[in-house]
Amino acid sequence: MEDGRETTGAGDRLLEEIRSWDQVNQADPFDLSVLTFEEEIRAMCEQNTCGRYGKSWNCPPVCGTVEELEAACRRYSKGILVNSVKQLEDSFDWQGMMDGGRALCDILLDIDDAARRLGLADYRILGSGGCNSCEDCSYPDHPCRHPDKQFTPIEACGINVMQTALDSGFKYNNGQNTVTYFGMLLYN
Ligand code: SF4
Repeated sequence: MEDGRETTGAGDRLLEEIRSWDQVNQADPFDLSVLTFEEEIRAMCEQNTCGRYGKSWNCPPVCGTVEELEAACRRYSKGILVNSVKQLEDSFDWQGMMDGGRALCDILLDIDDAARRLGLADYRILGSGGCNSCEDCSYPDHPCRHPDKQFTPIEACGINVMQTALDSGFKYNNGQNTVTYFGMLLYN
């Protein structure tokens, strides 16, 4: 949402609510000056290890350039970093990894709902990996079904997730056979 309204206190109330959710491992404010936007990070999307490159409206190459996404993110002054941890059967547990990604997507959708309810007026949510809001993405034949419920992956912006996490006091690795998924809320 970008209507320029004042949001005094809404971010603090939202953070308090996010921290109360069982599925959230950690949620903390972070300094946006740690964010860097690098073409090298974005280029990793092209390796398509997640299988979503060129298959989703919220992924490269159609989600915007690094330059465009940096400009969109730099207009915010505050941020909340949030993560969830998925326990896997073993390091080959692909289904567990997919389930973990969907679980983070659900958290981000809940953050979006709570942000609107609490009156946060000017914000953007960045996610992890391809969008999971629909069973099958409408890309490329039809427009996105829920443009307000698809969250550009942090990596697609060229942001180094691991470095951002470590610089912000988060653990990136939360134990053997786990995957940690990160999302972020940027707001004014
Ligand atoms: S909301 Fe649906 S159509 Fe839009 S990017 Fe996500 S999965 Fe694709």
